[in-house]
Amino acid sequence: MRAGILCCPGCTLLTRPAARGVPGYCPRCGARLEWRRAHAIQRTWALLIAAAILYVPANLLPVLTTNTLTSSTSDTILSGVLLLYDTGSWPLALIVLVASVLIPMGKILALSYVLVSVQRGSVDGNRQRTRLYRTIEFIGRWSMLDVFVDTFVVALVQLSPLMSVDPGPGVVYFMAVVVLTMFAARSFDPRLIWDADDERGLTRGA
Ligand SMILES: [Zn+2]
Repeated sequence: MRAGILCCPGCTLLTRPAARGVPGYCPRCGARLEWRRAHAIQRTWALLIAAAILYVPANLLPVLTTNTLTSSTSDTILSGVLLLYDTGSWPLALIVLVASVLIPMGKILALSYVLVSVQRGSVDGNRQRTRLYRTIEFIGRWSMLDVFVDTFVVALVQLSPLMSVDPGPGVVYFMAVVVLTMFAARSFDPRLIWDADDERGLTRGA
């Protein structure tokens, strides 16, 4: 950025901006060039806060309603985990706990931490923070695993006869959390992590 050169997000070609203050488009692949993703911090915060809010009903509302001939019980994610643990399938309980409770919460907390540190102009642990961001993005690709695990559990329960399982309203909130955290990670610009370092280097050099 200091050298007045842009990197194409699509093909990584280095180019000069079309005009002063106007990045323009990549001459090779036509992708829109940006010094930094527009409103990255605001957008990521907005999506993250929305995800954090929806995380509450996702955990409080039932995700599964199990019907037997005589009774019908509704389970939230956590009570489902406890049920799995009680019935002896603790590996499955652990998978659901990690995939459905810990990972979404970890993603929200980790992204918030990266955002706060960028806004405070922190220059410490840039590498670690970049690595943390990469991990969040990587997990994002596998986020639907949570939903997959839940449906897998449903399928297992369905195997026992005279029993049926219906998804509860919590599932909708849960999927919204997954999608929102994915978009939040996407709208963040990891280059922002290094900006404070660069600025400090410039003032030190001057
Ligand atoms: Zn390009």
